[in-house]
Amino acid sequence: MQTDFDAIIIGAGPAGSSAAIRLATAGWSVALIEKQTFPRRKVCGECVAASNLPLLDALGIGRDFADQAGPELKRVALMHGVQSVLADLPAFGDARHPWGRALGRETLDTLLLARARAAGATVLQPWAVQKISGLAGRHHCTVREALSGRLRHLRAPVAILAHGSWEPLPEERAVQRMARSGSDLLAFKANFSAGNLAAGTLPVLAFDGGYGGMVQADGAQLTLACCIRADRLDALRRAAPGRAAGDVVEDMLKRQCQGVRETLDGAIRCGSWLASGPLRPGVRLRDDDGVFRIGNAAGGAHPIIGEGISMALQSAWLLCARLEAERPSRAAGAQVNWQRGARARYAADWRHHFAPRLRVAAGLANLAMRPAGAMVLMATLKRFPNLLTRGAIWSGKVRGITECFPVSLGLQHGPQTTALPASRSPLPGEHP
Ligand SMILES: Cc1cc2nc3c(=O)[nH]c(=O)nc-3n(C[C@H](O)[C@H](O)[C@H](O)COP(=O)(O)OP(=O)(O)OC[C@H]3O[C@@H](n4cnc5c(N)ncnc54)[C@H](O)[C@@H]3O)c2cc1C
Repeated sequence: MQTDFDAIIIGAGPAGSSAAIRLATAGWSVALIEKQTFPRRKVCGECVAASNLPLLDALGIGRDFADQAGPELKRVALMHGVQSVLADLPAFGDARHPWGRALGRETLDTLLLARARAAGATVLQPWAVQKISGLAGRHHCTVREALSGRLRHLRAPVAILAHGSWEPLPEERAVQRMARSGSDLLAFKANFSAGNLAAGTLPVLAFDGGYGGMVQADGAQLTLACCIRADRLDALRRAAPGRAAGDVVEDMLKRQCQGVRETLDGAIRCGSWLASGPLRPGVRLRDDDGVFRIGNAAGGAHPIIGEGISMALQSAWLLCARLEAERPSRAAGAQVNWQRGARARYAADWRHHFAPRLRVAAGLANLAMRPAGAMVLMATLKRFPNLLTRGAIWSGKVRGITECFPVSLGLQHGPQTTALPASRSPLPGEHP
């Protein structure tokens, strides 16, 4: 059984699988390790912004996505209490893909993973990474098969963390457990059939202690996903002893938000509520441990803007463009220096593309979660509904990466250089 690879990728969400497709297509030997069995449901609003659709084409799943995703999303609404404001979503400047759409993660992630396997990646699933150690050029990774508990040891010069942010690697767990607080955001998601959501409308929800969204995804299913502060959820659960957390959240949303109440009137929930968290929006890029990070493992914006899948796909694309262009040889001795340079330039690319999204999302989330902030937001948007459209633009909905990174696989174009900023202000969650 093969144990030595050019790259080990941990996690087969949109970030990990798309990186595996790209590197395997470029001729790298890749191990992609995923601890869960697919298809699996995942807490997510499941909206894929139009700016990613050229990437899905390049990754080889564009046709499947087009066949299966929900209706084109052309309008956005903000709902708070009994109020609602509606505005147009901006169209993406690619005539083939002007509008985003939603696709259940059980389908999207399975399509990407199957494509990674077809491109030649060695997929270990369900296997969990237990430990990753070593330096750039000599990474050692211990993986454990879920069913048998069997251990394997893999080696590769390049290690890419794509394990998301809600499930820390075993060695990080104790630290995250200690750091819990009442302001932590917990995330919930459920699917419903027969909801009353106008096709093509994407409502964003603002409520006391949290925010959320609804969308019509594949198979005419409605996805409802939200985040709520841990202390607010505790208070709701104390007031409804014996009720499951997801049911308490659903009751609260119907009570507090007329738009949710009307949309779910007569709808039937399919399956149970899923929960995950705590979410820690912010930047997680590091340069001291010799690994590369993509997707949520590199950093995440508050999901109120629904840009996490975009950032997963696009950050994988940015990193792989760097790796393909900059890897000099497979000799381990040369690895440390080029990887350090590639990591610094990738970090600059990452900030250039995603830092504005993190800032907009943090500002919007903080307003939406506070009753006074949400009232000001609604009053402003009622006067200037076009600000909702602008907000979608500022949060990256129509910002692709195709202008600086060609999207056709197999073309050996290197990335254009993004200058490293001399100084910059810290991003949410980042320490200066
Ligand atoms: C409430 C909510 C709503 C959202 N709505 C949207 C939306 O509408 N649109 C949007 O674009 N984004 C949305 N997001 C964000 C989006 O879900 C994430 O940003 C996205 O899933 C990140 O992708 P990823 O590939 O980085 O990580 P993930 O999708 O989290 O994938 C990580 C993978 O790594 C695996 N893994 C973890 N640990 C290990 C290990 N030790 N060994 C092996 N495998 C491991 C996991 O099983 C998982 O499959 C939302 C998020 C939330 C919480």
